[in-house]
Amino acid sequence: MAYKISDECIACGACAAECPVSAISEGDGKYVIDADTCIECGACAGVCPVGAPSAE
Ligand code: SF4
Ligand code: SF4
Repeated sequence: MAYKISDECIACGACAAECPVSAISEGDGKYVIDADTCIECGACAGVCPVGAPSAE
């Protein structure tokens, strides 16, 4: 399963900069992960200050 960003996201953008496949983009008030592109590496979860990204 792809990673998903919860509503805890404060839209800092740190995860988007770390994603090796550029699966993360800025959405409406928070960042979103394209499930078809995500390779489940966990890098986004590792850099997020609020723990918003998680594997489903
Ligand atoms: Fe990108 Fe990896 Fe996060 Fe998937 S788990 S969105 S590939 S950083
Ligand atoms: Fe949101 Fe966390 Fe990504 Fe920052 S690093 S944009 S808080 S999911």
